[in-house]
Order: sequence, then C-alpha cells, then structure tokens
Amino acid sequence: MDKCDVIVVGAGLAGLVAAHELTSRGRSVTLVEQESEANLGGQAWWSFGGLFLVGSPEQRRLRVRDSLELAWSDWQGSAQFDRLSDQDSWAVRWARAYVEFAATEKRSYLAGHGITLTPTVGWAERGDLRAGGHGNSVPRFHVAWGCGTGVVAPFAASARRAAAEGRLTFRFRHRVDEIVLAGGAAAGVRGTVLAPDAAPRGVASNRDAAGEFTLEAQAVVVTTGGIGGNHDLVRQYWPPSLGTPPPTMVTGVPAYVDGRGIDIAAAAGARVVNRDRMWHYTEGLHNWDPVWPGHGIRILPGPSSVWLDALGRRLPAPCFPGYDTISTLRYLRATPDLAPYDHSWLVLTERILAKEFALSGSEQNPDITSGSKAQVLRTRLAGGVPGPVEAFRRQGADFVEAATIEELTERMNALTKEPLLDAALVRAQVEARDAQIANRYSKDAQVQGIRNSRAFLGDRLTRTARPHRLLEPGSGPLIGVKVHVLTRKTLGGIQTDLDSRALGPDGQPVPGLYAAGEAAGFGGGGVHGYNALEGTFLGGCLFSGRAAGRAAAGSIA
Ligand SMILES: Cc1cc2nc3c(=O)[nH]c(=O)nc-3n(C[C@H](O)[C@H](O)[C@H](O)COP(=O)(O)OP(=O)(O)OC[C@H]3O[C@@H](n4cnc5c(N)ncnc54)[C@H](O)[C@@H]3O)c2cc1C
Repeated sequence: MDKCDVIVVGAGLAGLVAAHELTSRGRSVTLVEQESEANLGGQAWWSFGGLFLVGSPEQRRLRVRDSLELAWSDWQGSAQFDRLSDQDSWAVRWARAYVEFAATEKRSYLAGHGITLTPTVGWAERGDLRAGGHGNSVPRFHVAWGCGTGVVAPFAASARRAAAEGRLTFRFRHRVDEIVLAGGAAAGVRGTVLAPDAAPRGVASNRDAAGEFTLEAQAVVVTTGGIGGNHDLVRQYWPPSLGTPPPTMVTGVPAYVDGRGIDIAAAAGARVVNRDRMWHYTEGLHNWDPVWPGHGIRILPGPSSVWLDALGRRLPAPCFPGYDTISTLRYLRATPDLAPYDHSWLVLTERILAKEFALSGSEQNPDITSGSKAQVLRTRLAGGVPGPVEAFRRQGADFVEAATIEELTERMNALTKEPLLDAALVRAQVEARDAQIANRYSKDAQVQGIRNSRAFLGDRLTRTARPHRLLEPGSGPLIGVKVHVLTRKTLGGIQTDLDSRALGPDGQPVPGLYAAGEAAGFGGGGVHGYNALEGTFLGGCLFSGRAAGRAAAGSIA
C-alpha cells in the first residue's frame, strides 16, 4: 500500500493549488484523479479565465471607481445569505475573507504565479436593478491572458515539477470510491483503478474497472468539483423556488463533473450544505463541435438583444442579457405556461452580434488563449463578427436569420416542435422597443441599461453596440438565437472552516479531512450564497485550495 503525507483527490484547479502549497512546504503528495493525464487541470483548463478583482489598476485605467466596501455590499446583496446560524455560518465568513482577498492580495498572488491580465474589464452580472440587490455595481470581470488555461498552467507545471523530483505522485485513472477512516480521522482512500483510455481532453472516458487500490496518508483533501455534469443530481437538488427543471438542458462541463466526490466526503462524516443552490445559465447553445456529452456553450451577452420567452413575450426586468442569471432562470422555469418548454430566444441584429456576442471557454477565445497580444488586437479590433461566433452562426443548430420579422419568426418556429411564436406579437414588441431609441433617454429599462453600459469606456469600446433600432436598415439581417438552460456551477457543497477543514454535522472538523474548490461551494459550503458576481469560481478555487494546502501541510506531524 502506498503512503504519503497528504492525498489530494481531484486534479482540477483547487487540487493543483492545494498540491502546490503542500509540496512547496516539503510535504509528499499523491494526486488521485479519475481521468487521464490529458485532463490535468479539470474544468479550469476549459474556462474563460474570468477573475473577480476589486480596485485593480485595470479598473482604474478604465475610470472605474471600486472599493472593498462597495464590493462587499454587492456580494451581500447577491448572496442573500439566509441560513446564517446554520448552513451559511461559515459561508458568510468565507465570503468576507474572499472579497478582502480580491481587493488586496489576489492580484499579487496571481502575478507571483505568472498569471497576468488582459486590459479589458467586463461588466458581468449587472444585477437586479436595486442598489442593495444582486449584481456588480461596477465592472470587475478581469480575463487572464491564456484564459483558464493560463490560470491553471503554473499549478499544473508545479505538480509536474514536484512529480519529476519525487515529491508528488500522480495516480491518473484512479477513481476514489471511499475515504478510509481510522479512529474517526481520514487516513486514506480506497477506490477503483479505471481501464486506460486515450480519449482526448474533455471527451467522456470509459468507466471499466481494471482493479482496486488503497492509499494511506495523514490527511485527505477533497477537490472533486461540483455536480453540473450529472443532470440526475441537478434535477434531484433543483430548488422549488426555481420552478421545475427544464425537460432538457445542455451541459456546460465535462462528464467527470459527476458530483460523486461530495457524497463520498459525506459518507466519511463531512456535512454537505446548501445543495439547493446552483448556478446554471439561460443562454446556452448546442455546441456544433461537441467535446463532451450534450456539450453546451454559454453566450456572454452584451445588453442589447431582445429576450423573448418560448411563447414570444419579452422577458420583464431584470431579465435582460447579462443582468441577473438566477432571476432569469426563475422566470423561465417558474412561470406556469413556460414549464413545458426548455428554450427562450434572443432577437438581435448583425451589428449586435458582432459587438456583443462572446462565448465562454478557452477554446472559444483562441486569441486570448494563445496569449498573443498582437493576435488579440487583430481579432478584437478588426470589427465584424468574431470567428468562433460566426462558426456558431453558420453551423450551430440554434441560429436563424432573415430580412424581416415575419420571415425570422417563421424560421424560429421551424426550430421548435410546434410553431409557438406569433409574428405580429414579436413585431409589436420590437417596434415598441425601437420607438424608445430615438432619444438619449427612455422609459424602457433595458434601453436605459444600454446607455448606462455605453457610459463605461470598456463597454463602449468593445461590448455594447451603439443603440439602434432593430428594424433600422443597415444593421444587418435580423438574427434569432434559440437559447437553452446550461448546467454549470454548484454553489453549495462540503461545509468547511477558514482552514478548509471539512466540518461534521456537529460543527467540529472531521480530523484529517479537508475540502476545497467547487466541492466545498468554493469555500465554507457556499461562499456565493444564492447568486454569483462572476469570475469568482476560479478565484474561489485558488483561495480555498491554498487554504487547504497550507492547513493540511501544517497539520502533518
Ligand atoms: C467552459 C467553462 C467556463 C468557465 N469560466 C469561468 C470563468 O471565466 N471564471 C470562473 O471563475 N470560473 C469559470 N468556470 C468555472 C470554473 O472553471 C470551475 O468552477 C473550477 O475550475 C472548478 O475547479 P475544481 O478544481 O473545484 O473542480 P474540477 O475542475 O471539476 O476538478 C475536479 C476533478 O476531480 C476529479 N474527480 C471527481 N471525482 C473523483 C473521484 N471520485 N476520484 C478521483 N477523481 C475525481 C474530476 O475528474 C476532476 O478532474 C468555467 C467553467 C467552465 C467549464
């Protein structure tokens, strides 16, 4: 039986960060991962690389005034923690610590690992239109050079270096099924050796058992990710407040985000909290070039598209593109006559498509992922529809376009089992919206929001089209995009204290057991509460993985 100081289960970002902290403190680590080496880095490798930072030089350069106080107020307004004496008791402490990290040390921590930031700052999750409610008062979404691959690269390199020097052992294709306890303390793991699989990164691999294994250690760190790849678990924990889960969903994460690790930790005595809190998007597309089963890609929308429900009615405030993910999900899922449908529609012009559509994921942003500033300047300042968006427009199953509303509606109707849209209703709403464009002011909240966006330099330059009537000649063809619920993040998870120690139902640490990253709700079992401000997941893995690694290193005799 193999023995090391600490076993880390899961080689995603949180696991790699924990392993880095451990090996740099002289602890021996076994990194156990059910997938092959091709998948090192987990979801983070696929991610867009958006990072929540507060009061950064990039914000200041774009004349954004931000502060810890404002960010903390936004976080609380978004999280809406309502289980403070119980499930949220550690989550709220993690939240405060995380926002402080984002406002102080995070940038130098990233720089210390060679992670640098592109000059643009995005305004994600603009919120529910209330000063004290959900949402970012100011743009805070910083994108790392290299996207998510750039964030995970230094930690993957650190693990490989440690492996080459004998301080870390990789156990790929080893699936943990059980945490072994000795006298109530985590003392190792037991599991199944999976048959070799040469599938490329992200492609679902076989689950054929080729043997069993047991590993021993003084501590175990669980960093097994969330449940987003497992629709059965998503449906099981879907909260009644969000109505019913849609009949079908697209999947925003690889199949290995299967949620098993959370229940394995629970079986070892860890308390799992806030399981009903999840972060699924409502702007998912079927990937025309899928990697994993049901592969969906999220549109990161600018503010101008008109959003219609499956029956062709414009969504009410604050359900505008890029504003309030959970309110939109709730509206689409809890409005009784929408329950049978699993889609909604964005209606826009080519001009909006060109300037406002971005797609989440490192592979959808090859220019930023390449790290080449020259390439980014070429692609982003060239105008026209970005290459990856154009590929979806041409080859994706969800795009239609036409010269008139009537033709567009007909083509949209052709994408559903029965024709649900009435062209006259769509036209009336588009014309009513267009009538709000002529003046610099308006009674339409979404049109007000477009102008608000344009007041932010970053949006005016790169993310928000000049306000125009959708029916204005010269704005290109009209485009209809069928969008779906896309499963992604798990907001609840294993409850942990600020040292990432897994806590039991009695609130006491389970000796030797740690948890970090998405499996731990990015810290404390749910650092986000009910809503995320975005760019907070990778950072949550860095912050909680670091805490776990440091604390576990300190606990070794
Ligand atoms: C396309 C995409 C875009 C994203 N964009 C952003 C963004 O811009 N900003 C942001 O902050 N976040 C983003 N995210 C979210 C973020 O990437 C994830 O939340 C984060 O990377 C999760 O990391 P993790 O280490 O906790 O888990 P994971 O990356 O899921 O890693 C867990 C690992 O554990 C392994 N594992 C699971 N169970 C077992 C077991 N029983 N035995 C052995 N191994 C096991 C899995 O195979 C996996 O490799 C994005 C995610 C995706 C997919």
